Amino acid sequence: MNDDTPIEISGAGPAGLAAALAVTAAGRPARVYEKRAEVGWRFHGDFQGLENWTTREDVLEELAALGVEAGFEHTPVRELVVFDPEGRARRLHSRQPLFYLVRRGGEKGTVDDALKRQALAAGVEIRFQTPVRRFPNGGIVTEGPHRADAIAAGYLFDTGMADGIYAAVSDRLACKGYAYLLVNRGRGTLATCLFDDFHNERDYLERCVDFFERQVGVRMDNPRRFGGSGNFGLPRTARKGDILYAGEAAGFQDPLFGFGIRWAVLSGAAAGRALAQGDPAAYERFWKRRLRAWHETAATNRWFYERLGERGYRAMLRRFPDGADVRDWVQRAYAPRWWKRAWYRLLAARRHRPLLDPHAGCDCTWCRCRRETA
Ligand SMILES: Cc1cc2nc3c(=O)[nH]c(=O)nc-3n(C[C@H](O)[C@H](O)[C@H](O)COP(=O)(O)OP(=O)(O)OC[C@H]3O[C@@H](n4cnc5c(N)ncnc54)[C@H](O)[C@@H]3O)c2cc1C
Repeated sequence: MNDDTPIEISGAGPAGLAAALAVTAAGRPARVYEKRAEVGWRFHGDFQGLENWTTREDVLEELAALGVEAGFEHTPVRELVVFDPEGRARRLHSRQPLFYLVRRGGEKGTVDDALKRQALAAGVEIRFQTPVRRFPNGGIVTEGPHRADAIAAGYLFDTGMADGIYAAVSDRLACKGYAYLLVNRGRGTLATCLFDDFHNERDYLERCVDFFERQVGVRMDNPRRFGGSGNFGLPRTARKGDILYAGEAAGFQDPLFGFGIRWAVLSGAAAGRALAQGDPAAYERFWKRRLRAWHETAATNRWFYERLGERGYRAMLRRFPDGADVRDWVQRAYAPRWWKRAWYRLLAARRHRPLLDPHAGCDCTWCRCRRETA
């Protein structure tokens, strides 16, 4: 390909748009194909967290160094309340933001809309309603999830409640996952994030609404249901010749709690840079250096988390030292350790859930493992 031939990218999510920005920054034209009519189709204005705990460096600085501007609404979160299964609250603090509260979807102010605007301003061509099947001349695949390893089901709503960030750990509210309530400037998102037992998602959600009504008096005006799924998994390779896979399409997403935006942008930008420089192998080197150890550690953390049960969640929260910085604590848990990586490899060799196809043999309707019920 000569330098005037656009580098093609399928999917206008954070990974695809970050890839396109990296391509144009390297002086090559970029063309993004998006199968929907707008960006952010998976989301509906719901709040998500842009995690800021896996590195000492602030995530916004890391994105800026990649040429990705924080032109989206982002509220730093330094305080949150976490409930144990009995409803006992721990109020946790951090000096630096633990994460940034952001919105997703096609509306102004969302991550998706801001990245789209930045990409268009940089000269990226975006072709909407144009699904891609193949890239005969190479390209970047950033098409999002292809199966459901975790699901979230919840409500978006308007509210007169004060701002607050709440989470709850209990298998009654969110099987092997967590429930959350995020309120900011009159908008709210309440959801259960399940890593198992997807069939009973409605019951979990009802219990979550009831729980947050009792614990914090949540009031939901104009509630709208939403849901979504995500996948994670470490690929053997994220490259087939000149085709590179990035973001959730490659499985790059935090397997412990399902935070994928940061890894989508990082991997997308690296894929774009590598193809623009005519060195696709550089992308393999990048993700193996920057993402693999974190993924293996977080997957091992998940394996242990799934075994905690109600008593374990309670003990975990009780063990959190009074006055400790929650960001430091989470950062230590996510920091790659040799024994966690060794544990991961052992589990992967034994094909243990959730590291490899957790839904093998499943008839779950959420599951995209091609075994859905008719
Ligand atoms: C309910 C929910 C809550 C979440 N909460 C958080 C959170 O708090 N923090 C966090 O970090 N992450 C969160 N995530 C995960 C995060 O949203 C994703 O990891 C992230 O959006 C992945 O970005 P991506 O660019 O890889 O994929 P996507 O954002 O899915 O974008 C993929 C794009 O590709 C398009 N596409 C698909 N197939 C084709 C095709 N054949 N041709 C052209 N276009 C195609 C899709 O329409 C879509 O626009 C959440 C996910 C869900 C579902």
